[in-house]
Amino acid sequence: MHFTDLGIDTRLETQLAHQGITQPTDIQAHAVPTALAGHDIFAQSKTGSGKTLAFLLPAVQRVIKQKALSKRDPRVLIVAPTRELATQVFTQLRLLIAGTNIKAVKILGGENFNDQIKALRNDPHFVIATPGRLADHLTQRSLQLSGLELLIFDEADRILDLGFTEQLKMINDLADHRLRQTLLFSATLDHAQVDALSRNLLKKPKQIMLSAANEQHSDIKQSLYLADHLDHKEALLEHFVKQEDVGQCIIFTATRADTARLSELLNSKGLKAQALAGDLTQSKRLDIMDAFSRENFKILITTDVASRGLDLLSVTHVINFDLPKHAEEYVHRIGRTGRAGFKGTAISLVGPKDWPSYKAIKSFLNDELAFHTVEGLTGKFKGLRDKKPQVQNKVNDKVKPKAKAAPKRKAKPKKPQAPIKAPLNIDGDAPMRRRKKPEQE
Ligand code: ADP
Ligand code: MG
Repeated sequence: MHFTDLGIDTRLETQLAHQGITQPTDIQAHAVPTALAGHDIFAQSKTGSGKTLAFLLPAVQRVIKQKALSKRDPRVLIVAPTRELATQVFTQLRLLIAGTNIKAVKILGGENFNDQIKALRNDPHFVIATPGRLADHLTQRSLQLSGLELLIFDEADRILDLGFTEQLKMINDLADHRLRQTLLFSATLDHAQVDALSRNLLKKPKQIMLSAANEQHSDIKQSLYLADHLDHKEALLEHFVKQEDVGQCIIFTATRADTARLSELLNSKGLKAQALAGDLTQSKRLDIMDAFSRENFKILITTDVASRGLDLLSVTHVINFDLPKHAEEYVHRIGRTGRAGFKGTAISLVGPKDWPSYKAIKSFLNDELAFHTVEGLTGKFKGLRDKKPQVQNKVNDKVKPKAKAAPKRKAKPKKPQAPIKAPLNIDGDAPMRRRKKPEQE
């Protein structure tokens, strides 16, 4: 199949061929014609499966081929949860529109507001933004959305998680007209919170669910290691990053302080590492990402600020120094490797503090997630026992008036989870598969 078979302009196809992209991926094959036909889309497919082009291609095609609703307002608005991701989407877009007269701007938090106002006055066709700063411009009316044709949310569930509901409502209200088309993309959309959001944003969406959020990623080898305490984790970390097969590696920690500490530690061992945390200035954040993408250093240590969307094909390993609290973030973190058909390795260190997260992830993935050991570095920690249900106090039982004995209910056998295949549903009518949120522990 070629991109032109999907309705994509030959010029764009040639542009893609320059980047070595010749065959559409699954998500592109389904989303591109659906978007070109004007439908709203709710699309879920695995990390690294090519979602960015799945929404950029129809967007660019539309701007090239169709008449604008408004000469001044942006025609396409793409919202991404982090500055790093927005920057990356912007970079891909720039490659696609090179040689055309399409104008695109990036509106990120942490950058000069007045410069952004100037850039917006230049009537760009595309605006790529993080939600907070976008809302600031909407409030100040330096950006109008009444002519917006295409509204796209990349990593849509994360935008919600970040608590941008008010901003989303504002965007939705300001661009509320009959002709607006809206596309939501992520690897993890199938949960109730997102469902509520999408009901407000999308009109009769076509659902393109190519994989379930909790489905195993066949290109990522996952392994877990038990760790007694911080020192033990550090020893394991050093062991793993020194392995020969490690190309570039991303290490995720729970806190910003740990990113800096581990960076110092690894550098003191002669390994080139840098910490990327949300409290750095915007230009510093971009500098670090840029240097990492140029492979100027080997190890990036970060928090969930970089768990989503980042696409660096030289990343062979992801190490969870601490486990994320939310199971979806685990899926996204490990998805920084094993992208675009490459193989990757994800290693997670699980100490006593990580145990509740481990249980949540394990239940989300419906998987045993076996533990492995490293010779010479095995510890004592073997996991925490499940809390026993509280036994009723016998004394209380006696004091209480005897209530009518409730018929004893047999514990319902747990329903086996529906097999997670990839039913292709682009009709948008069938209900989505639901999963239960892992219980808070
Ligand atoms: P996702 O958003 O689904 O996680 P990305 O859009 O970041 O994935 O794409 C992952 C990688 O795959 C990128 O490096 C991208 O350039 C590459 N890619 C995208 N589409 C294709 C394609 N059709 N053929 C080959 N590589 C592709
Ligand atoms: Mg993406």
